[in-house]
Amino acid sequence: MRFDVLTIFPDMVNAHLSEGMLGRAVARGIIEAAVHNIRDFARGAHKTTDDRPFGGGDGMVMKPGPIHRALAAVERPAGPGQAILLSPQGETFNRTVAWELTRYDQLIFVCGRYEGIDERIRIADIDRELSIGDYVLSGGEVAAMAVMEAVARLVPGVLGGERSHLEDSFEEGLLEYPQYTRPRIFQGAAVPAVLLSGDHEKIRRWRRAESLKRTLERRPELLESAGLTPEDERILADLKKGTVEGES
Ligand code: SAM
Repeated sequence: MRFDVLTIFPDMVNAHLSEGMLGRAVARGIIEAAVHNIRDFARGAHKTTDDRPFGGGDGMVMKPGPIHRALAAVERPAGPGQAILLSPQGETFNRTVAWELTRYDQLIFVCGRYEGIDERIRIADIDRELSIGDYVLSGGEVAAMAVMEAVARLVPGVLGGERSHLEDSFEEGLLEYPQYTRPRIFQGAAVPAVLLSGDHEKIRRWRRAESLKRTLERRPELLESAGLTPEDERILADLKKGTVEGES
């Protein structure tokens, strides 16, 4: 998988791509990443990347030329790729979209700034528009970083344990169960005894019940499309009656 990011703030994105999980994936060659400064493709003495909007109004608009030339200069390996514009007007990014994006060998992210980019780039050069939520950021960089991180977690080899992402929230349509680590007692609160029991089947059942309980309490709408087993349905019925099995 290769990520290319077009931005006027390359240092922001380079920092993200060199630390933590993404940094390790890049260092190990599982993810290839290149950050392109749109300003390098601007013309004129001032290398301007924005201009006033036609028709008047506040703010500036990113000029189409520099972005178009930056996109044309991106190296394209043989496999399929998508050029993605980060935009509050795009389709909302979620786990399903993240899985869809893993089908591509290359994802090219275009980060807008100011009032956004010239509409003609969106029409001519962009395959998909993604939003990370119904709020407005000052630039697409944070959104691109969120998308890259969520997609990279799903790429084989990026996470230490090959199965660890399979238990993440949303993976089976449910929120993940609560997690605990040392110490066994923290500020008077003990780790649930079942997690110390060494009984893997009991732990599995407890975690599943907690996962269902959390989802029921916090995101009940997810249960409608989650692939629930007959055992899950029984646990949910007990949860709704308030008679779910204890942990010990
Ligand atoms: N005037 C634009 C509008 O109302 O749709 C908003 C422009 S915003 C200040 C500047 C840039 O930040 C956008 O071009 C986009 O790249 C990015 N951005 C802002 N909010 C975003 C969101 N929720 N998801 C993805 N990108 C976002």
